[in-house]
Formats: sequence, structure tokens, C-alpha cells
Amino acid sequence: MGDDRITLTGLKARGFHGVFDFEKREGQDFVVDVVLHADHAQAGASDRLEDTINYADVAQIVADRVTGEPFDLIEALAWAIAGDLLRVAGSVEVTVHKPQAPIDQDFQDVSVTVRRTGVERERLQHERRARGGQAVIGVGANMGNPAETVQSAMDALDLHPHITILQRSSLYRSAPVGGVEQDDFINAVMTVEATLSAYELLGVCQGIELAHGRTRDVRWGPRTLDLDLIRFTPHEGLGRGEGLGDAGAELKLTDPVLTLPHPEAGNRAFVLTPWHEIDPSATIDVDGATLTLRERLEELSDQGVERA
Ligand code: ATP
Ligand code: CA
Ligand code: CA
Repeated sequence: MGDDRITLTGLKARGFHGVFDFEKREGQDFVVDVVLHADHAQAGASDRLEDTINYADVAQIVADRVTGEPFDLIEALAWAIAGDLLRVAGSVEVTVHKPQAPIDQDFQDVSVTVRRTGVERERLQHERRARGGQAVIGVGANMGNPAETVQSAMDALDLHPHITILQRSSLYRSAPVGGVEQDDFINAVMTVEATLSAYELLGVCQGIELAHGRTRDVRWGPRTLDLDLIRFTPHEGLGRGEGLGDAGAELKLTDPVLTLPHPEAGNRAFVLTPWHEIDPSATIDVDGATLTLRERLEELSDQGVERA
């Protein structure tokens, strides 16, 4: 995406936002400016309305919010408008003016501006569209009784009403990486079926980490339990032009909150070895090349991973 943008300014509509009763009762005019960042390349080439953002739609989306459910604060109104507009643009900037705000002094205008961005859009798109899929999840632990913790984490996931474990690997033992003096890790990988979005599944995994008293003070240091999403394949495709892949394809996300596929999985024998046990036909992309897990494991053969 370049610096293409669409700007719509001075859109006026009557709304009932404000902290005072009379504001909610009588209403007042709000004026909204929006800047939408999106790629114009396709519409520039085709000159077709369906390839661009329709200004009339944008105006309607804004007007619906302004005239809709009242908010106390224009910050909240601006945030909600921006969220609505992320349906049609990669990133948005919304300014809400309240020229009749109840302020004693003489003033010209008061306004707030919020920006919401593409990463967030990826997440929203995903939340909306992909409510289920198959995931590969890696488990690791090296504090307390790690073998028991790993089993118990898998049991906990399977108990969740929207998650079913399809396959569990055996437990493996691996020496820690990262240079911190600590005990060996116990690792396993499972494949699960989830009627959840990838973000919801991550949330469940983090809840289970907490429930196992996950503590970790040192980066790459010992931890009670670590659950990582390695790969997520939505059941429904995410549609054309949304940059998230086609039906049946794995989800690719660059969001720091959830990066998929897990960026380090391909470098970790303690992930690939158990994964290979339960899905020998799986492949992984490493530096642009697609390798079978077996091929990649041969390249990582110096990393000692053995059955626990
Ligand atoms: P690594 O990702 O290298 O295995 P880690 O597991 O030690 O590191 P954590 O401290 O467990 O890292 O997680 C840090 C953050 O990583 C989490 O808050 C989470 O939001 C984020 N994260 C991003 N992508 C993923 C993913 N695919 N699976 C799990 N967490 C992820
Ligand atoms: Ca990890
Ligand atoms: Ca983790």
C-alpha cells in the first residue's frame, strides 16, 4: 500500500452524544472528517466503482454512527466510526468536531482525532470471517513436573467446548536454547479442531498458561508452561483482496499479538519433531522454499530432541 488516500471533510449530522442530559435529549450537530488510506492502484487501472471505496458508502457509514446510539465522549464516537470504516479501508483517521459543545467561553471548534490501522483491520477481518479452523499448537514446559504440566495443558484444551484435539504427539525432551542455565524442556505438538477464531484460540491458550501458574522472569528462561500457535488453517476462505489467503490456505498474520505461521517454528527441532510424528505429510516454508518436515529436520539435526 502506497500513500493513496481518500479524504472526506465536513460531513455534518445531528447526534445525541455528550455527558449532559440536555445533550442526549436535544442533540446537536457533529462534523466529521475522515481520511482513508487504501490502495488506489486497481481502481486507477480499471476506472470501475467496485474496485474502489465508494464515497457515498463512507458518508453513510459515518452518518449512521453519528445519528445512532449516543456516546458520552466524542473520543468514543470517533473510535467507533474508525472501526466501522476499517471494513472498507486499510487504515483510517477520523476527526469529530463538536462546534456547539457546552463550553462557557467563546470558542470556534473542539475536535478529537483517532487513527486506527491495518494490523487492527487484519484482526477485525479475521475475527469476523474465520470462526473456525484447524490449528497446530506447540506445548513446552521445564519447571515443576513438566511432563505432567504438558499433559494437563493438552487435557485442558480438549475440555474446552469449542476445541477438540485431533492428535497428540508423544512427549519429547530437548535441551534449552538461548543460553540461560535451566532444566531440559518437555515438548509436544497437537493438532486441534476449533470453532473459534485464531485470536480466540490464542486467548484460550494464554488462559491455560495462567491457570498453570505460568511465571517467567528471564527471556528464554524457565517457564511453567508455554503454548504457541504454530499454524492456523481457517475452514472458510477469507476472500479475495484481503491479503489473508484463499480458502483452505493457512492464515498469515504479521500482527505482533499473533504472528502466523509462528515465525520460529521452522528453526526449532523441538516443534518439528513432534509435529512430524502426528503429521508426516506437513510442509513448512523456510526462506521461501517449501520443505517437508523431515527435510527440514535433517538440516536441524544438530539440535538434540529425543523421546521423553
Ligand atoms: P517465541 O514466540 O519465540 O516462542 P515465547 O513463546 O517465549 O517466544 P511469549 O512470552 O510466550 O513468547 O509470548 C509473547 C507474545 O507473543 C504473546 O503475548 C503473544 O501475543 C505473542 N504471539 C505472537 N504470535 C504468537 C503465536 N503464533 N503463538 C503464541 N503467541 C504469539
Ligand atoms: Ca514459545
Ligand atoms: Ca509463547
